[in-house]
Amino acid sequence: MKTQGILVLANPNTVVKDVPPDFPIVYKKQITYYLQNLRSTGVVLSATQIYDITQQIQNDQKKFSPFPLCSYYNIDVNDLRTGLLCRYCNKHLRRNNRETWYCEYCSKDALDPFNDGIKDWLKLVKNSITNEECRGFLELKNPNAARYALSKSSLVKKGKSTATFYISGNRRAITDK
Ligand SMILES: [Zn+2]
Repeated sequence: MKTQGILVLANPNTVVKDVPPDFPIVYKKQITYYLQNLRSTGVVLSATQIYDITQQIQNDQKKFSPFPLCSYYNIDVNDLRTGLLCRYCNKHLRRNNRETWYCEYCSKDALDPFNDGIKDWLKLVKNSITNEECRGFLELKNPNAARYALSKSSLVKKGKSTATFYISGNRRAITDK
């Protein structure tokens, strides 16, 4: 049986650049029109055949997970900007006082830049972080500063001594921003 794939965009505001000429892309609202214009092959599927096809589609479903993004997009980790960064403009933050940091470019306060940076690491680099990695990525002055940042995050501590690392204990902590 001949099949044809189409990409259906749920969001009417999505714009796809460089659309391949031989692959149909339609918006959700256009599906009915698209299907009505397909030429009938005259073949009518039985209920069992339709059931078999739905089962096959379900079995072939793959969960899309682009994380960590550096691996997915083939980005060199060394090319990432390190330090405490503004979540709006990505420039380096200035310390305001003991508790808050400030972005002089967009005039916004950053209340928890350590946690923002740790979340970035988990999304971009890998799903765990060590004290040394945290220190390097956030440009912290010593292991104690990194330990403090990690203990204030929602991550769970694993391993002992020099083998200690931290992972997310709550999936939403990584993906929410
Ligand atoms: Zn900023």
